[in-house]
Amino acid sequence: METTKSKCRLFVAAELDAGATIETDPGHAHYLRAVLRGKPGDPVTLFNGRDGEWSAEIAALAKTSAQLTVRAQRRPQTVSPDLTLCFAPLKKAALDVLIVKATELGATRLKPVFTDHTDVTRLNTERIAANLREAAEQCERLDVPAIDDGRRLEDLLRDWPRERPLLACAARREAPSIGTVASEVGAPAAILVGPEGGFAERELDLLAELPFVHPVGLGPRILRAETAAITALACWQAVAGDFR
Ligand code: SAH
Repeated sequence: METTKSKCRLFVAAELDAGATIETDPGHAHYLRAVLRGKPGDPVTLFNGRDGEWSAEIAALAKTSAQLTVRAQRRPQTVSPDLTLCFAPLKKAALDVLIVKATELGATRLKPVFTDHTDVTRLNTERIAANLREAAEQCERLDVPAIDDGRRLEDLLRDWPRERPLLACAARREAPSIGTVASEVGAPAAILVGPEGGFAERELDLLAELPFVHPVGLGPRILRAETAAITALACWQAVAGDFR
């Protein structure tokens, strides 16, 4: 394995193997050329979510494409603890925070959920996917969280895989601490965070009836939705995930 550090770390779709030549997408080519002012021979680090992390170097650089030569593996692929984050879509600034932090905190899948009090009606999942990739490049993950299309809460719950516990963050209702519940249920698991307006009473009643739902509390203060998501992910990772 190699230790040379390169400041540029890119997610690519292609297979990674020693000696392979990889054609980047136009976005990465622009980044290498115009932002980093890269030149042939400069080192880059690559990962694809399957083959671990590899050192590579720029072989050729043009306006809309770049060729990279893959050299040696730096880290083998690892599997992240299986943790889904279900969240009610937020306004752009808060959503961007949530996406980056969820990636840093190791969520493996994001599921947008439309609830009664969700005031965002449209969601650009392609933009979210691009932000997830960029966040994964920066935090040195070996995988990128998946993003699903948004669904109504009722539909999500109807089709829920029952073997996956859903930790529902319920502000203002009596519930055990997330740390206690996370250590009991372990992985795989999912976390559900409501919108800024909170869950409707009927949604909380619906959640309370389902055998796979575990209501959880995040302490005595009312957190913003993005803070609640960050807190819940970190608590779960500390007792059931890869902080251990
Ligand atoms: N406006 C609502 C609060 C919404 S907070 C109210 O006044 O009641 C947004 C979401 O963050 C909530 O739906 C819940 O999922 C989560 N949340 C915030 N604080 C929490 C806490 N102390 N415990 C559990 N979940 C919390």
